[in-house]
Amino acid sequence: MKKIGVLTSGGDAPGMNAAIRAVVRTAVYKGMQVYGIRRGFNGLINGEISQMDVTSVGEILHRGGTILNTARSDQFKTEEGMKKAINILKVFGIEGLVVIGGDGSFRGARELSERGFPTVGIPGTIDNDIACTEQSIGFDTAINTVLDAINKIRDTVSSHERTNIIEVMGRSAGDIAIYTGMAGGAEGILIPEMPLDIDNLCKRIIEGRNRGKTSSIIILAEGAGKAMEMERIIEEKTGMETRATVLGYIQRGGSPSAADIILASRMGYHAVELLEKNIGNRIVSIRGNKIVDDDIMEALSLPRSFNQELYNLAQVLSI
Ligand code: ATP
Repeated sequence: MKKIGVLTSGGDAPGMNAAIRAVVRTAVYKGMQVYGIRRGFNGLINGEISQMDVTSVGEILHRGGTILNTARSDQFKTEEGMKKAINILKVFGIEGLVVIGGDGSFRGARELSERGFPTVGIPGTIDNDIACTEQSIGFDTAINTVLDAINKIRDTVSSHERTNIIEVMGRSAGDIAIYTGMAGGAEGILIPEMPLDIDNLCKRIIEGRNRGKTSSIIILAEGAGKAMEMERIIEEKTGMETRATVLGYIQRGGSPSAADIILASRMGYHAVELLEKNIGNRIVSIRGNKIVDDDIMEALSLPRSFNQELYNLAQVLSI
């Protein structure tokens, strides 16, 4: 393969730029031409494509977001949109594609591969909700951003002797809540993978108060409920003054952590190595600190498990 393309799709995640840089520089190193596609599959259909070189990815390692922009495209899901995309790729002479994004983006990548266009996916999403990989690009940065927020909220919560319920991202995966709840010493962690037991949570808050604890932090994954509603319920049931904080998009931004930059760089390199060998329909992953790759279809059908051990440990340590 001598000409490849790269795009970012779905929600942005810190470290996507490091992945783009690794794809571009590895390709150039291997004597390939590389094209950047703006605005995800939308931009692909619209032909928003330009050649990238070593300098076009300079000074981006430390930047959050994605220099290629990202978008969601309903048109790409249609047969007509798919044909258009493949036709554009042919016009530019692009022979293989790297898609950096989440599981939705990988479904798009699979569709392209099934139509004979080799495509490789790199997991870039703060939610860490892709089953085949132990970590996705952006997760480490996001949990450090959330931890910083928890620590700041902790100062005011303990000063006022309140309970604060902090809503973090994670519609179907509670990883952000588990890891930050653990690292932030939260008194409770509510995730979509576990049944919601508000009575038990309130009982724990009251027990803590009876032992002399004057404030509590509860981390709530958005998929497990709404912080504003829980605020009212917890205040009613515990009689303790309770506040809600919804962290929102702040969790997506910021300079990527060293761990995310290194992960993204390793994954970007591996993706180009696959395309160089004409191998498509793969998702790049990390398992046991090794960069590996899997068939997209098989990877997408894997059941997702959450880190129950860490969740249990956090419960034990937050008594
Ligand atoms: P995040 O996890 O951050 O939400 P994502 O990659 O899962 O990222 P989605 O919005 O689910 O985000 O998907 C991104 C894009 O991938 C969609 O807008 C669409 O263009 C494409 N896509 C998703 N599902 C399919 C599909 N079944 N067939 C073709 N394309 C798809």
